[in-house]
Amino acid sequence: MKFQLPKGTFDILPYAPEEPWQLTALWHKLESIIAETAREYGYAEIRTPIYERTELFDRGVGETTDIVSKEMFTFEDKGGRSLSLRPEGTASVIRSFIEHSLSQARSSHKFYYIGPMFRYERPQSGRYRQFHQLGIEAIGASDPAQDAEVIDMLYQIYARLGLKRLRVQLNTVGDLESRAMYKAALVDYFRPHLDELSAESKIRLEKNPLRILDSKDPKDIELVRNAPSILTHLSPSAQTHFQEVCRLLDSIQIPYEINDKIVRGLDYYTKTVFEITTEDLGAQNTIGGGGRYDGLLSSLGGPDLPGVGYATGLERILQVMIAQGIEPLKEQGPLVYFIPLGEEAKTKCFTLASLCRRSHLSADVELCAKKVQTGLQNATKLSAVYCAIIGSDELNANKITLKHLETRQTTDLSLDRLISYLQGIQP
Ligand code: AMP
Repeated sequence: MKFQLPKGTFDILPYAPEEPWQLTALWHKLESIIAETAREYGYAEIRTPIYERTELFDRGVGETTDIVSKEMFTFEDKGGRSLSLRPEGTASVIRSFIEHSLSQARSSHKFYYIGPMFRYERPQSGRYRQFHQLGIEAIGASDPAQDAEVIDMLYQIYARLGLKRLRVQLNTVGDLESRAMYKAALVDYFRPHLDELSAESKIRLEKNPLRILDSKDPKDIELVRNAPSILTHLSPSAQTHFQEVCRLLDSIQIPYEINDKIVRGLDYYTKTVFEITTEDLGAQNTIGGGGRYDGLLSSLGGPDLPGVGYATGLERILQVMIAQGIEPLKEQGPLVYFIPLGEEAKTKCFTLASLCRRSHLSADVELCAKKVQTGLQNATKLSAVYCAIIGSDELNANKITLKHLETRQTTDLSLDRLISYLQGIQP
C-alpha cells in the first residue's frame, strides 16, 4: 500500500519540492527574518499546544464565526473531553497569558508565535487544512501607537522579504458604543432587502450583522456596496483613536488606504482592523490581517487589559515571494565532501569528517556511490565547496588533495594540517 498526504496538507522538503515554496531553505529564510524583526520590535516568542479545550475557541474566537462553526478539527479524548486543533493562535495565547498570571510580571506584553494551524476547509489553491501562521499579540497598551506599531512590524517583515505591490487596508469597527449604533444602522439597511440576501447572511442579520460585510457571496456583495459606513457611526473616542492610528502611520510613511468594508472574520475585534493584500495571489489575496481586541481578555476570565495583534499565513508569504520572482538564498552544502576508495579509506574519511564537525566545519562522506564519478556528481549536487578523494596513496602518504569544485583548483596538504587549513578559509 502506498500512503499519501492527508487532503489539504503538504510536505516541506530540502530539495525537489512539489511546489517551489515548499522548499525548506525558503522557510528558514522566512523564519529567521521573522525572529530578527520580532526581536528588534521587542516581541518575545510564546509556544502553546496545538490543541486546546474546544470551549476556548467557542468563546475566544466566537461560535458564529466560520472557523469555529464549520472548520474546526474537534475530537474527544479518552476521558470524554472535547478538544480541538487550534484554528488560530490568539485564543491560545490569551489562555496562556491568563493561566500563568503574566499580567503581574509587567505592564505591557509583546508576544509572537509561529506554528501550524488547522482548519477543515475545502482544499483549494492557497487554502490548506494544515497551514502556518506568524502571529503577534501586544497586550496592555490601549494607545493607538500600539496599533500602528503592529501594522508597521508586519509591513517591515514583508518589506524585508522583498515583497512588492502590497496594499494595507485599514478600518475601524469602533468601540462597543459605536458598534451598537452601527449594527442598528446595518439592520435598518438590510432588513428591507432580506429576500435578496444569501441564506447565510439572513442568519448573520440576526446574529452578527457586521459579518455580512465580510460575505463573499455575489448577492451580498452587491448590497454591501451601498451599506452605511461604520466611519459615520463612530463614537468620539473611537474616532479619535482611528485618526491617531492614521496619523502615526503617516508619520512613518506606511502607505495605507481606508476600506470601510473590512470587518475581519472574527468576533473579538474592536476599533482598528486591517488587512494586507496583494495582487499576486489570485482569489486568496489576503496575506495577513489583524486588529484590536480590547474586550477579549476579560471575556475569557482574565484581567481587563486591551490587546492588538495580527496573523499572517506563511504559505501565502512564500507564494507571493515566488510569484514576484524573489529567490531564496541558496543553502550552503558541506565545506568538504570526502570520497573514499575502499574500506580502509572509508574509515579514514569517517574519522576525518567527524574531526571536521567537531571543529564546526561542515563535512560529509560518500557512503553510497560505487564509482568515484558518481561520488563527484553527488558532491556537486550537494553544492559542496571542496571534495577530497581518499585512496591507498593518500593513506600511505598521510596526505590529502582538496579540490575546489567551482574553480577546479587543487591543494595538497598533509592530513594533520587539514583542520587548520579549512578553518583558515572559512568565511
Ligand atoms: P485569519 O486568521 O483567517 O485572519 O487568517 C490570517 C491569515 O492566515 C490569512 O491572511 C492567510 O494568510 C492565512 N490563512 C488563513 N486560512 C488559511 C488556510 N486555510 N490556508 C492557508 N493560509 C491560511
